[in-house]
Amino acid sequence: MALLVQKFGGTSVGTTERIEAVADKVCRFRKEGHDIVVVVSAMSGETNRLIGLAQNIMEEPTPREMDVLVSTGEQVTIALLSMALQKRGCEARSYTGSQVRILTDSTHTKARIRQIDEQRMREDLTAGRVVVVAGFQGTDEHGNITTLGRGGSDTTAVALAAALKADECQIYTDVDGVYTTDPRVVDSARRLDQITFEEMIEMASLGSKVLQIRSVEFAGKYNVPLRVLSSFQDGGGTLITFEDESVMEQPVVSGIAFNRDEAKLTISGVPDTPGSALNILKPISDANIEVDMIVQNVGADNHTDFTFTVHRSDYKRAKEVLDQVARDLGAREEVSGDNKIAKVSIVGVGMRSHAGVATTMFEALSREGINIQMISTSEIKISVVIAEKYLELAVRALHSAFELGEPDAEGQ
Ligand code: ASP
Ligand code: MG
Repeated sequence: MALLVQKFGGTSVGTTERIEAVADKVCRFRKEGHDIVVVVSAMSGETNRLIGLAQNIMEEPTPREMDVLVSTGEQVTIALLSMALQKRGCEARSYTGSQVRILTDSTHTKARIRQIDEQRMREDLTAGRVVVVAGFQGTDEHGNITTLGRGGSDTTAVALAAALKADECQIYTDVDGVYTTDPRVVDSARRLDQITFEEMIEMASLGSKVLQIRSVEFAGKYNVPLRVLSSFQDGGGTLITFEDESVMEQPVVSGIAFNRDEAKLTISGVPDTPGSALNILKPISDANIEVDMIVQNVGADNHTDFTFTVHRSDYKRAKEVLDQVARDLGAREEVSGDNKIAKVSIVGVGMRSHAGVATTMFEALSREGINIQMISTSEIKISVVIAEKYLELAVRALHSAFELGEPDAEGQ
């Protein structure tokens, strides 16, 4: 019999009827003799509703109070699910993150897990109980409630699976697996049976909203088999695992990822001297703003331009920090920015051994008349920044250029 960590996302627990359906599913696994730890998100829309309430009070509430507020969403679902399990004669107990003792650092709203005390969960499992844990939250060493960032329940599930050395971490969600791209954008998008951790990390970080990226990194690091499945439909879902040596022909490109929520900032005319990049980016990272792509132009006249992208929600703050940097550095020109950009990426471990992938990508975009503003590459991905309004067109063009669709849908 297996030890399973099963995580149910917001839509899967969006109503009390759905919570009862989750309870039916969990009870079935339990009756088969498996040991089960369940992690749940807040009911769908609840976290956003709570954030909205806070914003009615003030635009930028303190992160500590935000965590106290938003962590309540998950506390509601653990209690309701435990009740639904008990109603079915399935013994269960709910725990908040602090009660399990999911110890995190003190970075409110983006905390990182440091340690998990699995003792209490083990005792419940041994006693035959299902353990129901609130996702997304923990406690710091001073007892403050922390949260792990949006979508953080996935990370809770993987971290618990790693701590308990579970046989599998199953993420139940409203899609039945990981797709070649978002099926809402491309009709012919296809479910992948298997994908590597590396590819999934690129897909997740680039905006395939299936799993929080940190959960995949965690799973890769601790070798936790991770499976994404539908809460509503039967099926094997997508297994995220290590690269399979036995598969001779990896597809060159496994998927097309994209992210709308991007913004770019350019600081022009900065002195082209050692330390410039540091002077520009250190204040940004000190302000806890994550930078994604970075491009520095070839200098001319002892000056250069520097462009980087940030999450759109950090745009305003990044612009303020950068304006100050420009004054400090004596930049010749103003800081400029654009928060209507999007990033599209092709991802695949097969790229390592194939040439001409970039050419196919650029051809497909040029045929549609889409201008590329920035390019970055790694061993297994090529990303471009384009105007947001061309995003869907670009994704469709690339999906078909790399023949990723269902054979029937594309008449191949
Ligand atoms: N409820 C949190 C969110 O909406 C965490 C999660 O669902 O994973 O981001
Ligand atoms: Mg989620």
